[in-house]
Amino acid sequence: MRVTHFIDGEFVEPSSGTYLPNIEPATGSTYGEVAAGNPTDVDLAVRAASRAFPGWSSTPVERRSQILSTLASLIEARLEEFARAESMDTGKPITLARTVDIPRAINNLRFFATAITHFHSESHSTNSDAINVTLRKPRGVCALISPWNLPLYLFTWKIAPALATGNTAVGKPSELTPATAYLLSTLCAEAGMPPGVLNIVHGHGQNVGAPLVAHADVDTISFTGGTATGAAIAETVAPAFKKVALEMGGKNASIIFSDADIEQAVRTTMASSFSNQGQICHCGSRILVHRTVYNTFLTRLVERVNKLEIGDPLDAKTDQGAVVSEAHLQKIRQYIKLAVDEGGTLVAGGTEPPRVTGRCADGFFVTPTVVTGLDMHCRVNQEEIFGPVVTVTPFDSDGEAVGYANATPYGLSASIWTRDISRAYRVADALVCGTVWVNCWMVRDLRVPIGGTKRSGLGHEGGVEALRFFTDPKNVCVAI
Ligand code: NAD
Repeated sequence: MRVTHFIDGEFVEPSSGTYLPNIEPATGSTYGEVAAGNPTDVDLAVRAASRAFPGWSSTPVERRSQILSTLASLIEARLEEFARAESMDTGKPITLARTVDIPRAINNLRFFATAITHFHSESHSTNSDAINVTLRKPRGVCALISPWNLPLYLFTWKIAPALATGNTAVGKPSELTPATAYLLSTLCAEAGMPPGVLNIVHGHGQNVGAPLVAHADVDTISFTGGTATGAAIAETVAPAFKKVALEMGGKNASIIFSDADIEQAVRTTMASSFSNQGQICHCGSRILVHRTVYNTFLTRLVERVNKLEIGDPLDAKTDQGAVVSEAHLQKIRQYIKLAVDEGGTLVAGGTEPPRVTGRCADGFFVTPTVVTGLDMHCRVNQEEIFGPVVTVTPFDSDGEAVGYANATPYGLSASIWTRDISRAYRVADALVCGTVWVNCWMVRDLRVPIGGTKRSGLGHEGGVEALRFFTDPKNVCVAI
């Protein structure tokens, strides 16, 4: 697949004439190329979005809603093509792309297409002197920057509310996983979207993301990615007073109390720790288990980890595919080595790659790894690894579990396992993070705000919060 930019409704070659290789993580081979964008391409896209803004922002809400719904249906009709592209780009099992990523992307578009038709402004009567009417105005050209781990899911989560509220946008998908964003751009015209409403510029973060964020005609930035990148963006936008939402890394805890349904906790922890090869921002990478059930839980977890089917992501039987790149593979392996250097014991997995044969023999595969015996303050328990590597640590009291869970610079999410409703509320309240799942994980309701605290995020997204983020209040005070 040859991925070009999508600017002003046209498929545009990069002005530099250069393309980056698109590598399939499962094979390590180049299977396509992606436009290497630069500041000139970014400027073209921002200009197109600026020109489209007056028309799109004054388009009736029903029409904007209809276009986004049609886009959702067009993706749905090509679900298999999108799932395959997502799996080949990311290395994730196609089953996951087919059942989670692509359906959730479709839901994002449908949800905001209908949410905007229910979004209403407020009015306040001030004694008998005046009436205040608070309008919500779209902000203009938005920069929507997304990462590689859930490419279409997170990209559409930004596109849908930004466009529904009447903004125009320049999207910047990860250079590692451009395929589904490109497929989406091929459907915009058929959905009825006017040229320039959504523009997509591909390429490296430094050459596309950074100039996009800094562009004088971009005032709103929605970013999902790593904390270091978020910090660089914050530094650029602060002096210009741009509005920014940053969804960043995590080091989430899964806490298993002694009264938990252990079997269910083990089953869901397998998903919460190892889905997408541990490359989900909400993955629980630190598993904390009450000492009385520690051995039982650990034994059952390790048993299941050792049974994970690792192999070709395009094979429906595969549980664990490849990680996204060679560089990421090396980073994860370094952390497994570090776990041993820091005094940990590998009770499953290790640096030895799994045996994958045939088409995927040279792919970027990691053996799912479980580490015990590490101090909560060591690097492996403090830094985001973003791979199939977890630590398991015993605790003795609720207070100790909360202390351990909160003892990182991150504050994205946590999951807790208990049958005691009072404990669930007490612990959820004490955890410093944006989302707490009780006896479940990754259950999503698009109406609720989602985001992180500390080094995980700034500004919540989701539901009404997103519609507010992409609009500004404007109060009109009418004297009576
Ligand atoms: P990344 O920060 O390297 O890249 C994210 C995006 O930013 C990419 O499109 C990249 O090209 C672009 N970018 C890079 N440098 C930039 C710059 N200077 N200015 C503007 N844009 C720039 O992140 P990644 O490696 O693609 O994704 C993994 C990270 O994303 C993990 O830390 C993960 O936790 C995080 N993540 C967070 C959430 C969340 O909701 N909090 C969701 C998914 C992923």
